[in-house]
Amino acid sequence: MSETFDLAVIGLGAMGSAALSFAAARGVKAIGIEAHYPAHALSSSHGDSRLIRLGYFEDPSYVPLLQRAYENWRRLEARLRADILTVTGVLQIGSPDSKIVSGTRASCDLHGLAHEILDPEAMARRYPAFVLDEDEIGLLDPQGGYIRPEAAVMGYLKLAAEEGAALHFGEKVTAIEPDDAGVTVVSDTGRYRAKKVIVATGAWVAELVPQLVPYAVPIRQVVAWYQPQDGFVAQPQRMPCFIRDNREGGSFFGFPAIGIDGVKIGRHAHFREPIDPKLPNPPVNDADTALLDDFARRRLPLAAWQRARATTCRYTMLPSEDFLLDFMPGAANVVVSSACSGHGFKFTSVIGEILSDLALDGGSRLPTGLFSFERHFGAGAAG
Ligand SMILES: Cc1cc2nc3c(=O)[nH]c(=O)nc-3n(C[C@H](O)[C@H](O)[C@H](O)COP(=O)(O)OP(=O)(O)OC[C@H]3O[C@@H](n4cnc5c(N)ncnc54)[C@H](O)[C@@H]3O)c2cc1C
Repeated sequence: MSETFDLAVIGLGAMGSAALSFAAARGVKAIGIEAHYPAHALSSSHGDSRLIRLGYFEDPSYVPLLQRAYENWRRLEARLRADILTVTGVLQIGSPDSKIVSGTRASCDLHGLAHEILDPEAMARRYPAFVLDEDEIGLLDPQGGYIRPEAAVMGYLKLAAEEGAALHFGEKVTAIEPDDAGVTVVSDTGRYRAKKVIVATGAWVAELVPQLVPYAVPIRQVVAWYQPQDGFVAQPQRMPCFIRDNREGGSFFGFPAIGIDGVKIGRHAHFREPIDPKLPNPPVNDADTALLDDFARRRLPLAAWQRARATTCRYTMLPSEDFLLDFMPGAANVVVSSACSGHGFKFTSVIGEILSDLALDGGSRLPTGLFSFERHFGAGAAG
């Protein structure tokens, strides 16, 4: 007979590990099942750093969730006695009417968030790492900074284990079979019964949630690390984290030198190149490095002088680039998470809470209206 649980969480990346920790803290009998190991290189949750910022240009309605995310990150740090979130400020750079600058400003104004506008002269004085065009400005979000993704995932898993959750690594779930009383979870080595299931399988989400096949698209992402020119110290005081509207070249993001590899740079969604999640990521190629080197040379010549290394990662894009956190259509015992579109990590600490609430309470008091199947795919999609 299969072992029974109150909750099974499938996929222990960012969202799954946080959800499992929140649920286990409520005393339920929970299991987490992960096909590989935590924050592995094919997941979306590796690579030293993830941006967090409060003035959200994408949509001001994310701000209350971010405020809760900050609180939850600080709680996680307190429980682990570890540094997970470091405030450096985040500079949003571009022309005043670019989406990144104008959207951040609108979000800050609506929610009364502190921010500072810096013209090119002020930028050159305070933050000499950045080369701006004459018509560009910097908008500093002083509460922004970065999160350490590997430490966050490991931290949530540690807490989940301490609260009594069972953790299974190297075990792939091959099917979920929901019925009125619960869900049968079938893996390559076992079979379980759970009253509720959370599917948080990142780039592989459509394998277990077929409704997402045309919509949740895994794409290849590339980031590279650079050493500064001799004498330039790319520390946060002189070079905070940033996002830059690079006009028709898309938007770039980056981090000061956090580890020995130096300054990290990426272009949001890179070449928007779909990949098959079942296969290894295509390796870094000349076109990838040419794109990032060119940006580094033109926009960050002091801080990002010589490339040290580059690696690949995965985004899972939804058409609206918002997240999906909802019950699977036709299966009230299955909660689905697709929270990437290249900007999900900062929300991990609040999404974990939301997913646990949805699974255990059937709803969340946190605002989740942006994230429903219906909003993404229309009334018929809610099942
Ligand atoms: C290069 C890069 C930069 C980014 N930058 C930022 C940023 O600056 N700020 C930000 O907020 N966000 C950023 N993001 C987005 C953020 O990292 C993602 O939103 C987040 O990592 C998604 O977490 P996840 O739990 O959904 O997926 P993952 O962490 O990939 O976890 C999914 C897990 O499910 C497991 N799994 C899959 N299928 C199965 C199965 N059948 N059975 C068992 N386990 C399974 C996988 O092995 C994996 O471990 C970035 C992403 C990338 C790739």
